[in-house]
Amino acid sequence: MAFITLASNDSYALGALVWAASLRRVGTTKDIAILVTNGVSDSLRNVLPKFFNHIELVNVLESPDPSILEALKRPELNITLTKLHCWKLTQYSKCVFMDADTLVVKNIDELFEKEELSAVSDIGWPDCFNSGVFVFVPSQQTFANLTSLAAKEGGSFDGGDQGLLNTYFSDWATRDINRHLSFIYNMQFASCSYSYAPAFKRFGDKVKVIHFLGSVKPWHYTGSEHANEFIKKWWSMYFSEVHPKIESLSDVGSLSSTIQSMSIQAAADESSVVDDRSASSANWQGQNVPFEVIQKKLDASIQKP
Ligand code: UDP
Ligand code: MN
Repeated sequence: MAFITLASNDSYALGALVWAASLRRVGTTKDIAILVTNGVSDSLRNVLPKFFNHIELVNVLESPDPSILEALKRPELNITLTKLHCWKLTQYSKCVFMDADTLVVKNIDELFEKEELSAVSDIGWPDCFNSGVFVFVPSQQTFANLTSLAAKEGGSFDGGDQGLLNTYFSDWATRDINRHLSFIYNMQFASCSYSYAPAFKRFGDKVKVIHFLGSVKPWHYTGSEHANEFIKKWWSMYFSEVHPKIESLSDVGSLSSTIQSMSIQAAADESSVVDDRSASSANWQGQNVPFEVIQKKLDASIQKP
């Protein structure tokens, strides 16, 4: 049994490292696996074995109808059908797929007791499930069915994996309430805000998985008024579990420009928003960065095994 994620470029791969580290931190007993495309740089691909039990290089499966995604202003989701490759990991009897923009804060191994397809409602349309976290059973046959559905017109009503999976597993909405997972397994934190703050106040401490839904991801911020407690948790995990394992690499200097340009300094002073396109790369190398200070400051309540 395994947890699986997907990364098609270095930014999402960095997210995947933090996700994997977060799963280890809560003491999972399952394998942690990743689907990667050759859009991920060699430098990052080289560090994957430090974080993952299994690494599967896959080809990109593109949406046959990218115009829908352009209308949604999320053209980058064109590649999310690549997720379907997870059904081919038949060496595992059951898996949980999780987006690379999720962070696990409490152990969730109990999800493996659930059946295919179990998932959490989408906050935009709760009769659909959100495809950022789902329990499934690998099967070549299901993979073949899904890819042939994807090729049909209207197979995916949103142009991405979520529309396709909700079409294929359309009985999720009606058939079996046990397949409806609690929101705590996929707390969709859209554009870094809550739509229902009092509920968060009441139930927030039960949350097991934070999902940084939308075009703004934690790796786009390193500090600031936007840095709420979850973004801090993400960075705390990054500093404590990921950075030490990737900075020691001799080729760290050749990591992609996206990652190099993230400013760690901004996390230290927590006073400015830093956009990964404009930040200086000098900070990445760490000379000016008091890691212990940042870590202390950011290390919130991430559960230890
Ligand atoms: N993804 C990726 N490269 C991309 C876009 C998406 O690898 O360029 C993967 C990644 O695992 C990501 C998932 O597909 O978490 C779904 O995309 P995203 O999380 O951005 O969608 P959202 O949850 O915001 O709808
Ligand atoms: Mn996501």
